[in-house]
Amino acid sequence: MEKTRKQYRMIIIGILVVMGLILSGLYVYFLSQIQETYQRYASQSILDAKKTFLEDTVNNVIGRIGQIKAEEQLRLGFDHPDVDEAVKRRIYLEIHGYQFSNDAYIWVNEVIDYAGGADYAIRRIHPNMKDTEGMYLSTDMTDIAGNLPYLTELEGIKEDGELFFNYFFKKKGLDVVSEKITYAKLYEEYDWIIAMGVHLDDVQAYVTQSTEASKEQIRQVLFFVVAMTAVLIATAMLLLSYLERWYFKHTNIVLKSEAYKDPLTGVFNRRAGELELKKAFEEYRLLGDASAVFMLDIDDFKKINDKYGHDRGDAVLRTIADDLNKHIRNTDILSRWGGEEFLLICHGLKQEDIAPFTDKLLRVVRDASPGCGLHAANEMITISIGVSAFIAEDGIAQDAVKRADKALYQAKALGKNRAVLLLSGEDTQAG
Ligand code: GH3
Ligand code: MG
Ligand code: MG
Repeated sequence: MEKTRKQYRMIIIGILVVMGLILSGLYVYFLSQIQETYQRYASQSILDAKKTFLEDTVNNVIGRIGQIKAEEQLRLGFDHPDVDEAVKRRIYLEIHGYQFSNDAYIWVNEVIDYAGGADYAIRRIHPNMKDTEGMYLSTDMTDIAGNLPYLTELEGIKEDGELFFNYFFKKKGLDVVSEKITYAKLYEEYDWIIAMGVHLDDVQAYVTQSTEASKEQIRQVLFFVVAMTAVLIATAMLLLSYLERWYFKHTNIVLKSEAYKDPLTGVFNRRAGELELKKAFEEYRLLGDASAVFMLDIDDFKKINDKYGHDRGDAVLRTIADDLNKHIRNTDILSRWGGEEFLLICHGLKQEDIAPFTDKLLRVVRDASPGCGLHAANEMITISIGVSAFIAEDGIAQDAVKRADKALYQAKALGKNRAVLLLSGEDTQAG
């Protein structure tokens, strides 16, 4: 009986947990989508900043060449044959004097043969590898990754006079291979390819760092969502039991009207008992709420009537009903089922509590005897009780009542003043 209630609660908890998981999953998915987009834009904008820096720096060098040339023409004379040599020497010194952060530098190659091939150019300025200045370059040269950077550069220069390209380069003094982005531009007058490159690994480092930061945020958000789901489940459970209790109270309020009272005893009448029985059975089927059903019958009541008269009999009925009613919980429903027979419905009474409870009921009735106004001091009023509870096989509420009736019959046959529990069709338990 309790099992169905648990199953019902487990289903609700299950649904909430699944909903929570789906929500968390969706949340994390969308967060990671946002993170991905953010990273893409972040690395793109860093790259754009690097490109602008490279382009500006190379163009500044070209601007400097023009300035120096004007100075030298002023100093040596406009068409003096040594002007260009002087310009190249001064630029050489200037470039060697430049200081850039992150291992960046400017280099200059002079193109001898625009068709490419071995010895297509001479390295003129290279502040990072001064000893290689003056050496011949070949378009067949490959970088560490197997690309042909000189060929790429020459083709780009021939096409547009300038280009951006990437290649792999071993960092100076380190065993680290890094990708470099390079901007190269042709200074046609000297056949100089003026280039500058910067490492790209800091972009990756930045992205990794921001990824770590947002992963931590996702973890925090996930924890929050999970905690919220738990709070939601707890709230739903509380609300559920509150609603159940409210439902109980509400229906009992309806039962309090005069139409549901037995005029003689003041306890609920059979109509109320049947209504409550139906309700209890519904709760059992829907929520798995256990209810025990008790059929109580006063022993040898006919004799009391015969001996003391009908009015005294009525008074005994009133006293017994009154005392029983005082000793049950207010969620229990005691109704007069017929003559000297009562039906008691106890919500949520556990099976192991049935025997102590019936013992109490038997005692309550015996203890009520002195107040019944019988002649003999030792004369005792007793009852017999048949007990049952709803079981899975029950089609209607009356099935449990039938078992309680059967159990009552057995209690009478066993000598009265006792309780018999009949849970299923067969097993009997005397009390
Ligand atoms: P058992 O122990 O087998 O239950 O015997 P019993 O005499 O109690 O049972 P039986 O069914 O033979 O008699 C029940 C008696 O209860 C018969 C009837 O006159 C009496 N009775 C039924 N309703 C009332 C009532 O409202 N007032 C009074 N005073 N007696 C009633
Ligand atoms: Mg009787
Ligand atoms: Mg009877």
